[in-house]
Amino acid sequence: MSLLGVWPGKSFYETDLGSDRIICPKPKKARHHQVVIIGGGLAGLSTAWRLHELGITDIALCEQGQPGEGASGRNGGFVFAGYSLPNQALSKQAGLEEGQTLHGWTRQAVRTVRQRIESLQIDCQANDSGVLLTDWFGDDDALLAFQQAMQDDLGFPLTFIDRPQCRQLIQSQRYGSALHEPGSFHFQPLRYVNGLVKALLAEGVEIYGQSPIESLERITRNPSNGHWRLITDSAVLSADEVVITTGGYDTRLWPRLGRAIQPIATYIATTEPLGDRIHALLPKGHAIYDTRFAFDYYRPLPDTRLLWGGRISIQARKPRAIEKVLRRDLTKVFPELGEVHFDHAWGGWMGYTRHQMPLLGQDPSGLWHATGFGGHGMAPTTLAGDVVAEAITGNRDRLQAFQRWQPVWAGGLAGRAWAQGTYWAYQLKDAWRDWAKPSRRPIG
Ligand SMILES: Cc1cc2nc3c(=O)[nH]c(=O)nc-3n(C[C@H](O)[C@H](O)[C@H](O)COP(=O)(O)OP(=O)(O)OC[C@H]3O[C@@H](n4cnc5c(N)ncnc54)[C@H](O)[C@@H]3O)c2cc1C
Repeated sequence: MSLLGVWPGKSFYETDLGSDRIICPKPKKARHHQVVIIGGGLAGLSTAWRLHELGITDIALCEQGQPGEGASGRNGGFVFAGYSLPNQALSKQAGLEEGQTLHGWTRQAVRTVRQRIESLQIDCQANDSGVLLTDWFGDDDALLAFQQAMQDDLGFPLTFIDRPQCRQLIQSQRYGSALHEPGSFHFQPLRYVNGLVKALLAEGVEIYGQSPIESLERITRNPSNGHWRLITDSAVLSADEVVITTGGYDTRLWPRLGRAIQPIATYIATTEPLGDRIHALLPKGHAIYDTRFAFDYYRPLPDTRLLWGGRISIQARKPRAIEKVLRRDLTKVFPELGEVHFDHAWGGWMGYTRHQMPLLGQDPSGLWHATGFGGHGMAPTTLAGDVVAEAITGNRDRLQAFQRWQPVWAGGLAGRAWAQGTYWAYQLKDAWRDWAKPSRRPIG
């Protein structure tokens, strides 16, 4: 496994799923498949599922660890619309009409995740209270202007929640008002991944675990020989089509793509069960993030724990160090939780592109890819699976819309340092804006 794959510390999700987690074996002998997908995150699994729905029967997926080992099984569990590229920048870059279409596809993807949960009967603790964007700076005018822009530019109606109402939903003096995203929800992502794996296996899709693809080579254009050769440590596979979906966990397998990806970490910790205290803090069970660039994200879990996430870094930290930084953030919002015990702390890699849009397409060698989802992946990876599967089966209409965002060099090591520096600069900007806000007293 590449160094990027190693994160010390087990996630709460793994503990929660326990022995229900499906463990997939390595391939034992050489096999040819119509399509091989590299990467067992949501981009890979969603592509496999949509290909199966479109009638492709011979599919294999290779994951270097076990499915969900990467960001898709370790994330905050917020399922909401949009891309890593801020919504307003999306409509500027793509134009109003195309921006609306692209954004609309992610809203549809949120519904697709929900439909899959229902139709495949995946027990992933989906919570429909949804996601609230809370205002850190006590600036109603800015929030209302943002709400208006989302409506005007993207036709996306967010619901305004004023300060008194917001205090009914979050027992913290930290925030002003909030916006609620209709249709959004939160869930246990590793359970969702596991549910997809189970459904795919039942449909005859081969899923190989502990099977890092060590090299990938185009051998011939002659279909009878297979187009691609893929080497794992236990078998050589071949395939007519290959889709690479390795996210922030690989930069070396296919250099044209790898050089366009910047692996960036973010961290999560879960508290001990809080009992009734959690219902007092978040009476309606919303998932929360805020208007800072360097925002916190958190949500209640069914067993009354609080899952707390935040920070962006180029470092894989140990659980104790993660706990330390996240405790500081937590107590700014809920000072009464200063002494609370964290029982799990972990992180994961996200694959960032310079333009903050995912890379969906087929490169000149014929290799398909769906990668670079940055910090916003539950809906876009689902959409990407649909779009790439459609393209493989002959309909490139939606894929075309993503060709504006090609793989561009993410800056290598210098890019990593730049990303960290940018994050710190924005943290300072957030702190300045907080200091300079109209009322520096807690918002009551
Ligand atoms: C801590 C954290 C919190 C987040 N919170 C949210 C959130 O709340 N909501 C949201 O929408 N998004 C969130 N994200 C982002 C989201 O999780 C990602 O954008 C999304 O999961 C990316 O999916 P993926 O399939 O592209 O990548 P991944 O899920 O990372 O999957 C890539 C897989 O490829 C495998 N792989 C790599 N190289 C090889 C190889 N050579 N051979 C075989 N397999 C290989 C890896 O092991 C990995 O499992 C968060 C991310 C993190 C890390």
